[in-house]
Amino acid sequence: MEHAVVLCDLDGVVLDYPAAESMAFAGTATRLGLHDLAAVQPVYARINVACWQAYERGELTAEQLRVRRWAELLEATGVAADPADVSTDYLSRLGRAGPVFPGAVRALRRLAAVVPVIAVTNGFSDVVHGRLAASGTRDLFHGVVVADEVAAPKPAPEMFTTALALVGEDPDRAVMIGDNHHADIEGAHDLAIDTMWVAPSDAERSPIATWQVDSMRAAADMLLSA
Ligand SMILES: [Mg+2]
Repeated sequence: MEHAVVLCDLDGVVLDYPAAESMAFAGTATRLGLHDLAAVQPVYARINVACWQAYERGELTAEQLRVRRWAELLEATGVAADPADVSTDYLSRLGRAGPVFPGAVRALRRLAAVVPVIAVTNGFSDVVHGRLAASGTRDLFHGVVVADEVAAPKPAPEMFTTALALVGEDPDRAVMIGDNHHADIEGAHDLAIDTMWVAPSDAERSPIATWQVDSMRAAADMLLSA
């Protein structure tokens, strides 16, 4: 093992966010009387992506993002409800949903047995901690760095430097595992941290990632054999 610390994104790497989101969305939508999930979920998904992009550009705060996406969905579907209340209901459901990718927990356990692994995530603090607990993976992480506790989301350098400070390590002793090329790979690369991009096996080669793998299991295999 060449690295002294592993920084690890959660969603798309360890935690299956689309599955968690679908479970939470189904609960909240049904409560609003929106029973045709196949029709309404794609509308929400489009709104949510646009809101996240605005958040990552610094145009929305985390708090505004949470409520704005529901305000827009309520408007699109003509349902009368308070978007702040709907957001609270959704986040509470999301915070209890912890599905993981097959093989990811075992891979994480193997890595965590030999090196500190620190979660570095752009999620919301209360939701992230709830989902980590529900997934049974919390104890495998030496620390958890969440964007809304640090002030700016990845690719902000503070996300990575905050994680490194937890173990007193330099960037050149670390590797970042993540599936979001902009947030995870470019962010870590800018600090000269080695990077491992988790991408579908048919994805184009990243011009900057140190390694490219298709799962957390492959990431652990590669790091542990180096
Ligand atoms: Mg991710």
